[in-house]
Amino acid sequence: MIQIKDLHKSYHMGTNSLHVLKGINFNVKEGEMVSIMGSSGSGKSTLLNILGILDEADSGSYILDGVPIKNLNEKVAANYRNKFLGFIFQSFNLINYKTALDNVAMPLYYQGVKRQERIEKAEHYLEKVGLAEWSHHLPNELSGGQKQRVAIARALASDPKVLLADEPTGALDSKTSQEVMELIQGINDEGKTILMVTHEHDIAQMTKRIVHIKDGLIIDDNPVEQVRASLYV
Ligand code: ADP
Ligand code: MG
Repeated sequence: MIQIKDLHKSYHMGTNSLHVLKGINFNVKEGEMVSIMGSSGSGKSTLLNILGILDEADSGSYILDGVPIKNLNEKVAANYRNKFLGFIFQSFNLINYKTALDNVAMPLYYQGVKRQERIEKAEHYLEKVGLAEWSHHLPNELSGGQKQRVAIARALASDPKVLLADEPTGALDSKTSQEVMELIQGINDEGKTILMVTHEHDIAQMTKRIVHIKDGLIIDDNPVEQVRASLYV
């Protein structure tokens, strides 16, 4: 589903430059649930933004569902994002003056889905995340966990190939984090490919594979059972 080869990315500020990704290689198969771990500033979001076609690498290759992602103009990039990807953010990124239902229906509008179908799909996905009763509430009437559920429903509404999540539980207490992770696990159980960034060990343990980034390189890439077992060595 995802093939990345020798990815490099630097940021330039005046005469200074910061080499953030220094040759990242990894593949993700359809149906995997992978966490990307690393300390703050290690380049996790940079990598996720490249995977999400929100940013482009300086060099290296990225193939998403067989499609090379390279030198895309903004229109094509937006098209691929809509078609392939669903996003979940730490801060939910809901539109405050729109109801839960309208937030979930929004990406469908940009895909040209007709109004009645948008509403039906949005209702379906809100029900799936356990928020059928809350569809007409505004984000500020919802708890953090409920807001993230709305964001998850929104990410799922367009049936993306891959779900990308940047610290999806970063703004939630541990019990709510656990519940949101269980919801995300359930979505993976149904076959959705999921990549998430986190710096929390217990959250990463709830995925199936942990990729560890340090100083711009992958230093570890293991199935979760293996990571667990190594704790007892
Ligand atoms: P992480 O998500 O692992 O905390 P990031 O990918 O956000 O790390 O950032 C990696 C490094 O790149 C950090 O040192 C950060 O300050 C820097 N950085 C991130 N985005 C930019 C940007 N747009 N311009 C300049 N530097 C950036
Ligand atoms: Mg980050």
